[in-house]
Amino acid sequence: MGEKKVEMIYEMLNDPLVQEVLFNIFEGDEKGFEVIEVLLEKGETTEEEIAKELGLKLNVIRKLLYKLYDARLVDYKRWKDEETNWYSYTWLPTLEKLPYVVKKKIKELIKDLEEKLEFEKNNMFFFCPKCNVRFTFEEAVDYGFTCPGCGGMLKEFDNSELIKDLEEQLKFLKEELKNNPFLK
Ligand SMILES: [Zn+2]
Repeated sequence: MGEKKVEMIYEMLNDPLVQEVLFNIFEGDEKGFEVIEVLLEKGETTEEEIAKELGLKLNVIRKLLYKLYDARLVDYKRWKDEETNWYSYTWLPTLEKLPYVVKKKIKELIKDLEEKLEFEKNNMFFFCPKCNVRFTFEEAVDYGFTCPGCGGMLKEFDNSELIKDLEEQLKFLKEELKNNPFLK
């Protein structure tokens, strides 16, 4: 990777939306960001080296590397250690794919939110205030408008706040997709 590219990747890593997407890829494990830093610093490295550098257990590093690999943000080379006859892996960052990965994730998220919004808009809901459970109109009819949990009467559920919230999230993501300089 060229110096310019690495610089751009560091800038991207400071973008809140990019961080959010990576956080999602790491399934909430913040140590993933440290693994990325080591990968960028070394260019090519082993699991053992990363573990040593960060003072973390090998299986923690491995899990994070596999998550990055699933997202196509690292690649590996496998080689056989002639002495031990074991296979070893060398990992290299392919973070130049980050804009593509972020864009893809955001598009997936938009699709998901649009489906949720459709569902909210096209359905009427009821809920049990005591159990805090929500039902669609069809479900409520099936239960005779009484809660299957406590037998209480179901009330109409106003989802307009939920719809507004979904619309705001969609608007934000669509604007990011259009205007975020890293996603061009
Ligand atoms: Zn109930």
